[in-house]
Amino acid sequence: MSGLVTSRVAHIVKITQVFRASCPEERGIIDVPCLGTNRKMTDINAAPSPVNFRHAAFLQSASAVENAPPDAGWEVAFAGRSNSGKSSAINALTEQGKLARTSRTPGRTQLINFFALSDSQRLVDLPGYGFAKVPLAVKKKWNQQLERYLQYRESLRGLVMLMDIRHPLTDADKQMLGWAVAASMPVHILLTKADKLKRGPAQNTLLSVRSELAAHAELVSVQCFSSLKRQGIKELGKQINRWLTDESVMDPPPETPEAE
Ligand code: GDP
Repeated sequence: MSGLVTSRVAHIVKITQVFRASCPEERGIIDVPCLGTNRKMTDINAAPSPVNFRHAAFLQSASAVENAPPDAGWEVAFAGRSNSGKSSAINALTEQGKLARTSRTPGRTQLINFFALSDSQRLVDLPGYGFAKVPLAVKKKWNQQLERYLQYRESLRGLVMLMDIRHPLTDADKQMLGWAVAASMPVHILLTKADKLKRGPAQNTLLSVRSELAAHAELVSVQCFSSLKRQGIKELGKQINRWLTDESVMDPPPETPEAE
């Protein structure tokens, strides 16, 4: 881990540890406060130069965070329960039918897949979580990996979380959100397969998810999405574009306090 830890990360870890020591409920999203670290929301007035998602090309797979590409440049990660429509969304965004592998046997692959958009910008496909048939030990290992990736990955600018619009905010989703919020990581939620609901019920779900997460509105945004109908792709592209091009997403690292 030593290679990954910088003074900025050490700062985040320190306050996270202090928080955890004082709050046994830290896994619940509702109980996780914004910790006020150096990550903050994008300046929506900035005019980023556009990312060309069609240029996305497979870079490498990693079986663990330690095997990821060098932690330089900027990246945006996609996370969601198995079968949430993550691969379909990445393929729709990049207009490449087979870039991310869609699977009818969810939970099989447990690799982090990196896709290059340019020399310094990447999309990251995180392993699907919450699949019932994955052995508990494997689940635990991946949970640790995901949590560490959110905490320590310097180049990570934002997390796209995918949830099936028919059953959003499962316990596994809340756990993942809890880690993201604890790491002060901006999150953009896609309520996927929106075509499965009529417009009214889809809007109601959107509003209720927003209201449930209102305490974290500074970090978390939500939209409806359908890869099948190509609904919401522009909105998603704009959000990722901001994260990958806007220098104001992050403040400079905090000063290390002088030893007394
Ligand atoms: P992943 O396991 O999260 O990568 O999910 P996939 O992208 O492989 O999708 C899981 C299943 O949901 C597949 O059968 C897809 O065809 C289906 N699916 C994905 N996106 C949509 C969508 O927008 N609408 C509908 N109706 N089905 C979808």
